[in-house]
Amino acid sequence: MDTPGRAWLWRSWRTMTPALTRWAVPSVHGPALALARRDGPVLATPTLRVHALMLGVSNAYLLESAHGVVLVDAGLPLCEEIILARLARLGRRDLRLIVITHAHVDHYGSAAAVRRATGAAIAVHRADAADMAAGRTRLGSIRAWGWAQPTLPLVEPLLRVEPTGADLLLDEGALPDALGLDARIVHLPGHTPGSCALLVEEQYAFTGDLISTNGTAHVQRSYAQDWRQVAASVEKLRGCRPVQSFPGHGPTSLTGAMLAELALDGPAGHAAR
Ligand SMILES: [Zn+2]
Ligand SMILES: [Zn+2]
Repeated sequence: MDTPGRAWLWRSWRTMTPALTRWAVPSVHGPALALARRDGPVLATPTLRVHALMLGVSNAYLLESAHGVVLVDAGLPLCEEIILARLARLGRRDLRLIVITHAHVDHYGSAAAVRRATGAAIAVHRADAADMAAGRTRLGSIRAWGWAQPTLPLVEPLLRVEPTGADLLLDEGALPDALGLDARIVHLPGHTPGSCALLVEEQYAFTGDLISTNGTAHVQRSYAQDWRQVAASVEKLRGCRPVQSFPGHGPTSLTGAMLAELALDGPAGHAAR
């Protein structure tokens, strides 16, 4: 085939694949996905395999593509052995990026250790970078449990961990092309100023702590630095219309319908009214 013909073929293939992928995996439009599924992926498409790592308190996700592996969140400190063991079982030595959804200890606690072991770069939204670089976790206010508010200055120092400088500061928008992953950052502030989701192939959202499926699926109701922003961020995420949302806590994903119907109650709903 001549060169223009080959270029046309590649371009068509590149353009068509995301559309074909949507047709090829109708099952993901159905029920929520159970995240604790042996060693296999919780989601597999022709271009992406998602592995859920349930790291006790919180969830992390390994995103495998032909171009490399991306880790979304890294759990509490001392979770690195679980993450590295899963990478080894997958036979992947190409973890390239660790995306931290927000600077809380249960999401970046093992990021520095994983970086040391793999050489992967750590990325976080620029509004949370200073806290992470200081090893801090700021809990904001606990409006749901007003009585607990005075304890926060006592709790936050206990949550100090290894200072974790970011290699890449994130803003709203696409990840660098070189990662080969069709993904973008959606800034969802409120829980922390730099909270964000990674939206992959415009279909799969890795949402950090904006939503949780612990118990019944719910909007963040425990900790926030700005509850009004939490409410706005829920609406922003809904507007992205993800087919599946993978939360930072909880045993299942949320389908698009579950996200659309999620009640905006609790302190975020109160602040929005
Ligand atoms: Zn959090
Ligand atoms: Zn969390």
